[in-house]
Amino acid sequence: MNVLVINCGSSSLKFQLINSDSEEVLAKGLCERIGIDGSLTYQPQGGEKVKTDKAMPTHTEAIQFVIDALTDAKTGVVKSLDEIGAVGHRVVHGGEKFASSVVITDEVMKAIEECNDLAPLHNPANLIGINACQKLMPGTPMVAVFDTAFHQTMPEEAYMYGLPYEYYEKYKVRRYGFHGTSHSFVSKRAAELAGKPYDQLKTIVCHLGNGASICAVKNGKSVDTSMGLTPLEGLVMGTRSGDIDPAILEFIAKKENLDIAGLMNMLNKKSGVYGLSNNLSSDFRDLDAAASKGNKPAAIALKVFAYRVAKYVGSYAAAMNGVDVIAFTAGVGENSGPVRADIMSYLGYLGIQLDGAANDSRGEEVTISTPDSKVQVMVIPTNEELAIARETVALV
Ligand code: AMP
Repeated sequence: MNVLVINCGSSSLKFQLINSDSEEVLAKGLCERIGIDGSLTYQPQGGEKVKTDKAMPTHTEAIQFVIDALTDAKTGVVKSLDEIGAVGHRVVHGGEKFASSVVITDEVMKAIEECNDLAPLHNPANLIGINACQKLMPGTPMVAVFDTAFHQTMPEEAYMYGLPYEYYEKYKVRRYGFHGTSHSFVSKRAAELAGKPYDQLKTIVCHLGNGASICAVKNGKSVDTSMGLTPLEGLVMGTRSGDIDPAILEFIAKKENLDIAGLMNMLNKKSGVYGLSNNLSSDFRDLDAAASKGNKPAAIALKVFAYRVAKYVGSYAAAMNGVDVIAFTAGVGENSGPVRADIMSYLGYLGIQLDGAANDSRGEEVTISTPDSKVQVMVIPTNEELAIARETVALV
């Protein structure tokens, strides 16, 4: 079956058409600046990537252009919409309502809308994408795959904050975690590569991209993860602060005369390795290059990043009473040997031994620990689109 995977943001929309039998990507692309002016980037399998400007007042036009491209006589990869068996939608927040992916019905749409409060920037956009697809592809089954669902197995001690209980009861303020599709995909693959049953393995997945989170997966279930109510908690990220002393907010608000929106903007967009590096860059390639030329803030940013990851790995080894596999994934985790080596330099007490030559490889599945290392350390490229396609097929 061909599955159209949609990841819809407020002004952009990423898509892939995946043949679920061969797991090949038949075509992929991106609509950008929806509601502003609009452009479509489209690349069929084996073909060239082409970007075209197209007026996209709403997401409905964007999806119509995607469908036109996919069915185009010259560059298309299917003859008609009938050859698309299902659509899988990435949905960011499923709150406590969704512990797994679901076929989208009117009730599901309502329940996703009820989670809008928890992800005001993402869920409404996800719903707009679903609505647009339903309008243009009536009769095609649609599935929602949630970033939060995989973490619904966390126990109370991992998901409750040390805040008044009434906020949990009234507003569902708790830790949810994100990147669930990636953590689930990578931890399953880690078990396959380790040759061990998924339900008997303790894995720590380090999803280190522009957004970054860590997950403790014990016997096939997420038992803790570093992001919380929102994707701001946890690791130091590209531009997000991760964990800080909450009292810093009042202190900085007074000094800089910032309101809540100003503070949130600072924490989400001006912090992380970008802020630490004195606004040099959120891209680890730039930071590496600058640090190697003696730029001190860039070097500090890289050190803080690795140290925070190592601390989380240690705490998750404690949470699971041990760890069998550590897996690195996403942009930084897949590509940066130096960052992985810095993180691993803290982990000798776990009996981890790094294979320096293997750690030099980039963007491929590889074991980067030596054969006698007590914990197997792997690099596993994530593939959230494929994971969404698999979930979608399983449900329809
Ligand atoms: P993601 O959010 O998973 O797409 O990751 C994006 C981030 O990966 C970029 O901001 C870069 O910092 C990082 N990245 C990509 N390639 C490399 C590389 N070769 N070395 C270091 N970092 C990289």
